[in-house]
Amino acid sequence: MKIAENLPLKVPYNIYIDPSNACNFKCTFCPTGNKELLKSVNRPIGMMKINVFEKTVEDLNEMIKKYQQKPEFIALFKDGEPLLNKNLIPMISFLDKFKLSSKIHLTTNGSLMNKHLAEELVKSGLKEIRFSIYHVNTKGYFELTRKKIDFTNLLNKLTEFWEVNRYYGFPVYTKINTIDVNYTKSEKEEFRRIFKKISHYINFDPLHGWSSSEKLNEYGATTPKSSDKKIICSQPFSRMTVLHNGDVTPCCVDWSHKLVQGNVMNESLDKIWNKNCNDLRLNHLNNKIEKSSPCFNCEYLEQMTENDSLEGKEKELLGIYN
Ligand code: SF4
Repeated sequence: MKIAENLPLKVPYNIYIDPSNACNFKCTFCPTGNKELLKSVNRPIGMMKINVFEKTVEDLNEMIKKYQQKPEFIALFKDGEPLLNKNLIPMISFLDKFKLSSKIHLTTNGSLMNKHLAEELVKSGLKEIRFSIYHVNTKGYFELTRKKIDFTNLLNKLTEFWEVNRYYGFPVYTKINTIDVNYTKSEKEEFRRIFKKISHYINFDPLHGWSSSEKLNEYGATTPKSSDKKIICSQPFSRMTVLHNGDVTPCCVDWSHKLVQGNVMNESLDKIWNKNCNDLRLNHLNNKIEKSSPCFNCEYLEQMTENDSLEGKEKELLGIYN
């Protein structure tokens, strides 16, 4: 969908809800894997409580009824590993009852999968799962995730999920995603050979940057921002993330949570999205991004696609959001 042609989106097009912002991996490229970095911005660590999740879903339901718009997807992940949250299955089942989107998505590293959990996930109402895989052997895994993962064991877990999913007629579309670093040509071929048997779709992604990416460069995580061209970010106009503690940010790469616009336990999502977020939108449209803002040196902007482009729409959008 071309975002520019559909604004204002009274209901965000993409919604992320974060069941857990803790993770059992310490990936070299990910802010969550860097405790010092998180400490420097006072980012809290925790699991989403069930009442926060339910309030989020109920508020979304109200918005969708009121504005008669539905999100493209609702994704259950953001900063951490969602399978760490013991309430994940009741959360998905609760969300599924409201039929808010045709796609309920989960991204996980898969390391905590087991047969029982696979069965629960497949029957929960989940529509899509994406396993983030980091290599085809234990050594490669350790280099990137700083976690000792027995690759054969992990593969068995994912195969078990695939078999359970098959048994129930594949209600969950299964994707395998990896980042295109640390692979030789033959390892890539091996990756495809292994995972095509247990997935519907395989993807090699480039390593993406984050907000305030200059802070991550010293950890070798991202490449420097390559252009100073003014780009209006479409995220505050189209994407909303509810963090584990109920804080709401209109950006899925806001790792420092500096763009939080409210908390779902204190205000309605409708107000946060359709009122509180407008100042940030206007700052983007007016090119008034302060140096202290995560948006100021955001590498993620470099990856915006044609569908995300708001170029040439400034005047029209200022009229809408002012
Ligand atoms: S510029 Fe970067 S940090 Fe700001 S909203 Fe867009 S993606 Fe997020």
